[in-house]
Amino acid sequence: MAKKEFKAESKRLLEMMINSIYTQREIFLRELISNASDAIDKIYYKALTDNGLVFNKEDYYIKVTADKANRTLTLSDTGIGMTKEELENNLGVIAKSGSLAFKKENEAKDGHNIIGQFGVGFYSAFMVADVVTVISKALGSDEAYKWESEGADGYTIEPCEKASVGTEITLQIKANTEDDQYDEFLEEYRLKAIIKKYSDFIRYPIKMEVTSRKPKEGSENEFEEVQEEQTVNSMVPIWRKNKNELTAEDYENFYYEKRYGFDKPLKHIHISADGAVVYNAILFIPENTPYDYYTREFEKGLELYSNGVLIMDKCADLLPDYFSFVKGMVDSEDLSLNISRELLQHDRQLKLIAKNIKNKIKSQLQSLLKDEREGYDKFYQAFGRQLKYGVYADYGMNKEDLQDLLMFYSSTEKKLVTLDEYVSRMKEDQKYIYYASGESNARIEKLPQTELVADKGYEILYFTDEIDEFAIKMLMKYKEKEFKSVSSGDLGIEAEDKDQASENDEAANKELFDYMAGLLNGKVTKVKASKRLKSHPVCLSTEGEVTIEMEKILKAMPN
Ligand code: ADP
Ligand code: MG
Repeated sequence: MAKKEFKAESKRLLEMMINSIYTQREIFLRELISNASDAIDKIYYKALTDNGLVFNKEDYYIKVTADKANRTLTLSDTGIGMTKEELENNLGVIAKSGSLAFKKENEAKDGHNIIGQFGVGFYSAFMVADVVTVISKALGSDEAYKWESEGADGYTIEPCEKASVGTEITLQIKANTEDDQYDEFLEEYRLKAIIKKYSDFIRYPIKMEVTSRKPKEGSENEFEEVQEEQTVNSMVPIWRKNKNELTAEDYENFYYEKRYGFDKPLKHIHISADGAVVYNAILFIPENTPYDYYTREFEKGLELYSNGVLIMDKCADLLPDYFSFVKGMVDSEDLSLNISRELLQHDRQLKLIAKNIKNKIKSQLQSLLKDEREGYDKFYQAFGRQLKYGVYADYGMNKEDLQDLLMFYSSTEKKLVTLDEYVSRMKEDQKYIYYASGESNARIEKLPQTELVADKGYEILYFTDEIDEFAIKMLMKYKEKEFKSVSSGDLGIEAEDKDQASENDEAANKELFDYMAGLLNGKVTKVKASKRLKSHPVCLSTEGEVTIEMEKILKAMPN
């Protein structure tokens, strides 16, 4: 049987597409600028093999002009342009991408920077425009053509005049309706902001006529409005620059420009990965805890770029929860994007990048700990609790990654120490890593239970965060040493003969102990003689896994 071709109602298809792919209207500018950048890239790649063609970087730019009176927004570029056939094929056929074809033809020439691939971005212009007019003159052609469309109804093409090679796209911006506002797309400041947000790292200048108020010549208090051409984008992404050319200040400026935070970042991490997955990243470890950090409102994530174009503001999949404090961005050519370039289709590459990033953050924190202890202390004050949550979360799956980064206040050192430092100081006869839980260091210091352990000269870690003991229970051991609460029944230090003595005491005082237990009426399971007390007459101790402090927290938790 002869196969029949699918037919599509292209008018409906276009309408559907225009209104359903993109979640934000402002995206149209990103799409048109990306196309213009691709068009310039194509001349650049042609010049690589065509000796007759010289690529002077200064001659290539993109210009955005808003005309409020006529409600038009014009984007012109000095790119490769389109012939009449190309206008028909690339703008007249939905999902046809001249750029994808170009990339395939020129694979050998490494056409990696070309952004386009789906052949739909152009139509996003109809989200904000009633009429779109494209005037284009192709490289090597004497003729120019005008393509014009009102969207779903089709398009017209006719010859026209254009002096130089390139493309000029004019959008007749829609009128405001009760529900929808379009005026913003004619406002200088708004256009500038959109360009900055999505297209800051397009490699060619994006110019705009900008009005600014300047003092009149020869006068101090008279002002006049002047039109000035300005380049809006920064062009060279800092992450593509060589690390050796960048100073700490450059990174700090980037941090502020990007509004990652208002503090001074403690550390930056610049990654240029060239292995199984190619990507660049600049990450920061902030100094201060953001005000909403330990709340539900806080959203983790890194900015995600594909070829220098912003795809996602906060890509959560790039960071594990325990490193959620990290700020920064990732740029990769290797991502599979979906058609709106908003979401990722397959996440294999993303997973690889995330794993890679996790390891880099871990080793940076380790080197901070090793080489800049003061900085690490600051970091730990701000985000240490998150690491402890990380040990506890996911059934302890990540404890190996995190255990060396943990710190607790030490009874002997009077400061935060790592588990490694603790273990290295353990006495020869010391079996356990001792800890005591309480509200504050001062409170713990007064606990009668700490006396015997401290008397032996053993160090005690003070647990003042609710999560501490839970995290440690998840860890179970560190370097083969088990953790032991000073309030647990068996401390592993009472000598045998002392045990004997307490048994004797036990027998001698049986009546008294029974009487006391009776008075406490079920609040304790047992009253017994203890050898761990020195200056205090009595203390509470527990049997089994759950300590008094944990019990308090568990009781306080909502069911
Ligand atoms: P994509 O960029 O994904 O290919 P678009 O719908 O954005 O899809 O654009 C379709 C095609 O139209 C592009 O692949 C390109 O061939 C052509 N095109 C669009 N804008 C321009 C431009 N400013 N200069 C030259 N060609 C362009
Ligand atoms: Mg495009």
